Amino acid sequence: MYKSDTICTIATGMGRSAIGMVRVSGPEAIDICDKIFRGKKRIKNMETFTAAFGRIVYEDEIFDEAVVLVMKAPHTYTTEDTVEINLHGGSYVIKRVMELLLNLGVRPAEPGEFTKRAFLGGRIDMTEAEAVMDVINAETDKALKASVGQLTGGLSKQVVELREKILYQTAYIESALDDPENYSLDGYSDKLKEVVITVKDKIEALLRTADEGRIIREGISTAIVGRPNVGKSSILNLLLGEERAIVTDIEGTTRDTLEEYVNIGGIILKLIDTAGIRNTDDVVEKIGVDRAKESIEEADLILMILDGSESLLPEDKEILESVRDKKIITLINKSDKESNLDKEELASIIDTEIIDISAKTGDGLEDLKDVLTDMFFRDELDFNDQIYITNSRHKAALISANESLGKVLESIDSAMGEDFYTIDLMAAYESLGDIIGETLEDDLADKIFSEFCMGK
Ligand code: GDP
Repeated sequence: MYKSDTICTIATGMGRSAIGMVRVSGPEAIDICDKIFRGKKRIKNMETFTAAFGRIVYEDEIFDEAVVLVMKAPHTYTTEDTVEINLHGGSYVIKRVMELLLNLGVRPAEPGEFTKRAFLGGRIDMTEAEAVMDVINAETDKALKASVGQLTGGLSKQVVELREKILYQTAYIESALDDPENYSLDGYSDKLKEVVITVKDKIEALLRTADEGRIIREGISTAIVGRPNVGKSSILNLLLGEERAIVTDIEGTTRDTLEEYVNIGGIILKLIDTAGIRNTDDVVEKIGVDRAKESIEEADLILMILDGSESLLPEDKEILESVRDKKIITLINKSDKESNLDKEELASIIDTEIIDISAKTGDGLEDLKDVLTDMFFRDELDFNDQIYITNSRHKAALISANESLGKVLESIDSAMGEDFYTIDLMAAYESLGDIIGETLEDDLADKIFSEFCMGK
């Protein structure tokens, strides 16, 4: 079985703050912390879930005052003995206490290692562990609610139920093949078909939430397009500035541009290729036609910008043609000026939501928010019972389980033998197991935990 050493980390941010916390977890957490803490009580003698005030002292040197919180296995975050040492928030003192612990044989934790221990200790499953990370990373209310839903085990519960159904059928087939006198397979394939269809429907329903889930988690990936001078960069600035704007600048992982995020009333737009818009009048020229097409391709949403003070030009129509298969919101900009654009002509070219907006005055931004809400969150999100697939790993596992179940249905329809069914049933069972970490390969678990932030 899994056996662990004692780890420590700085669990709070490293800026100047009132409190800084060093967290120690593992079999020797209590003994080692006892060596460096002097207070009215000895850490060794403290009850679980109690705190004590004192000093961090080692070889007569006083490091800082501290409040220690002692939590004993197994009812702790990691399931191991855990001591949290709350110090003053200066980074120097925190680092020195860390060094002291390292000298006493504690190992610095890897990112996510505390949560990994919770997983290995059997306290949480993989969906819950991943939800911890999502809670930390959540930038909007919606994202937070979706991940808290997962944290409380909503997805695992569904997955476990589906797996049980599958396992029961597999077990039944195996028993019937072993013991035909007591278990009959007459008419069984019809029954199995029914069960498989039910499970498949549930999986497909979960998969249908994946796009919305990704959007909740990562934002609506949005491309701003339009010919030169219609006001793309002005709109961009309006979106970025007006709405208390940039949530984060994250370096694009697969591309060399920055991706910018804006929060419009709780809906996150992930703006793609904004660097192109910033630096030149002509996005297509700047980033190259292929790249522009690529960003249009991967966008959930196109913000098509037109200049309302002019009539539709051939260039506008060309761009409209190139995005016609996407979800489009057309922003008719410069509404502060006299209007010269024929909306009926526009509507005859393409199916789009149309909003009058002025980058100059900010008029129309509220309308944009309303349209976005309608477009992407039409079925009023109900986080209490709806589970969202927000994680691409979960999505992949569901797709693969769904495919295996599809094969079971094919085998039933072509009247293959019962032992054929079990192979694909078990494959579906295992794919679903990946979601909750039941059948997860070690290296994959390591990869997932390495994406956690330090100290969690
Ligand atoms: P881009 O080439 O599409 O990025 O367009 P810009 O954002 O650079 O804007 C082109 C010109 O239109 C600039 O002179 C802007 O000041 C002007 N402009 C942009 N939006 C508005 C608007 O809403 N009203 C008015 N009156 N002018 C605007």
